[in-house]
Amino acid sequence: MYLTIKGLDDERFIRPLELIANLFFEETTISFKKEENRDLIIQFSLDINGNTVYVKGKLLDQAGNEESAEYEKELSGYQTEKEQFKQVKNAVSHAFLTMLQNWTGMIQKWGILTGVRPTKLMHRKMQEKISFESAHKQLKEEYLITDEKLKLMQQIVERQLAVVPDLYELRNEVSIYIGIPFCPTKCAYCTFPAYAINGRQGSVDSFLGGLHYEMRQVGRWLKTHNIKVTTVYFGGGTPTSITAEEMDMLYEEMYTSFPDVSTIREITVEAGRPDTITKEKLDVLKKWKIDRISINPQSHIQETLKAIGRHHTVEETVEKFHLARSMGMKNINMDLIIGLPGEGIPEFTHTLNETEKLLPESLTVHTLSFKRASEMTKNKEKYKVADRQEISLMMEQAEEWTKAHDYHPYYLYRQKNILGNLENVGYSLKGQESIYNIMIMEEQQTIIGLGCGASSKLVDPKSGKITRFANPKDPKTYNENYESYTNEKINMLSELFNVKTTFAN
Ligand code: SF4
Repeated sequence: MYLTIKGLDDERFIRPLELIANLFFEETTISFKKEENRDLIIQFSLDINGNTVYVKGKLLDQAGNEESAEYEKELSGYQTEKEQFKQVKNAVSHAFLTMLQNWTGMIQKWGILTGVRPTKLMHRKMQEKISFESAHKQLKEEYLITDEKLKLMQQIVERQLAVVPDLYELRNEVSIYIGIPFCPTKCAYCTFPAYAINGRQGSVDSFLGGLHYEMRQVGRWLKTHNIKVTTVYFGGGTPTSITAEEMDMLYEEMYTSFPDVSTIREITVEAGRPDTITKEKLDVLKKWKIDRISINPQSHIQETLKAIGRHHTVEETVEKFHLARSMGMKNINMDLIIGLPGEGIPEFTHTLNETEKLLPESLTVHTLSFKRASEMTKNKEKYKVADRQEISLMMEQAEEWTKAHDYHPYYLYRQKNILGNLENVGYSLKGQESIYNIMIMEEQQTIIGLGCGASSKLVDPKSGKITRFANPKDPKTYNENYESYTNEKINMLSELFNVKTTFAN
């Protein structure tokens, strides 16, 4: 789809307008240049008068059909030109979305929102002490979010505040993410740092050496400055793809190096791939009192698992789930994906029926997203996926199923190129929610990332401003540079928490 935009000349408009247009059309190219054979021409007029922005838009298609929209908004609370532009951009997006909705007859349930964390907007309203009723009104007016999604946002925010009542006061604590970049094989949709583990023992050994070093140094810094840890999350990759002995040493390091591990609210280990789970590894998890694990079926259809490169059977998922249960694992999460290649309502129904026999404590329902760097996106024609309407119906099915089984939504996030412009939702039985998932989604505190591909998100305890710092994604670069990455991170943390850096030998 080719669109010409007239009446705007600031290049910063192009990307956000493209993101909105992509909600309606496969792939859109937007340009300010007058070119022949454009599918649509959009004429904007933008008037900023004092603190009011007034946008008028007119859409013209090749058949001569027209749509128009107007929007007026007070600009408020901005400190910089960049912040002011964001509000102007939202006003232009508002008129743009209205025209495209009218022209296509398609309603975007998330309105003009294309970002990852819509619930943050609702939290912001809560922190400003605005009632839910007014928050709904304001968010609907400003972003064109539908009532259905506003209700979901409210439900999630209420659940999060019930689980973490001090959510807005945790900025002086941190959570820790530990990335283990190995998996038995690479899944087709994956863009995580995940390297096939077979034949890489040398690389695994050096990586773990670096990781232990990072844990020791960061742990010492936390102890020195009396900074508490709220949650710890071992992700990756698959953290259970290393051996039981390596896991044992890693958790011992955590207990030795991190402050007051017994008071950490939650420790999760992703055991995502059932083919990595053994009795010995579960023994290690029990020994170190790991509260929460994930065993991820994604689908209970064998052909699908094969098509997406997961070399385990559906029976193995069930078997490992029962093994974990029999060994006393009381908080198990399972991930499912809606819209996997070749899957529609019958396949998803089967997966839900199988899930019903297991009833894990929490269930994360993802909608497939075509991430740019994944094998699936590179060979898109090989993977046939359901259409927008069927995806939407499967999402509704998941909502009904979780409700009927007493699961409640407690976090959500969205991704670019997600099928049907939907979302990923974490559901949980009451009291079994993952606190780390709430922390990572709502960005209320610093998350220190250790290990390969781990990204640290530094949240300023006073202003809430977020700075990111990424460790290298591949084990080789990590192994060569972990000391300098650790030092740099510690310096940034010291600055953030306004303390003096201390390095240990
Ligand atoms: S198990 Fe997870 S991290 Fe590993 S390849 Fe598959 S999607 Fe990626």
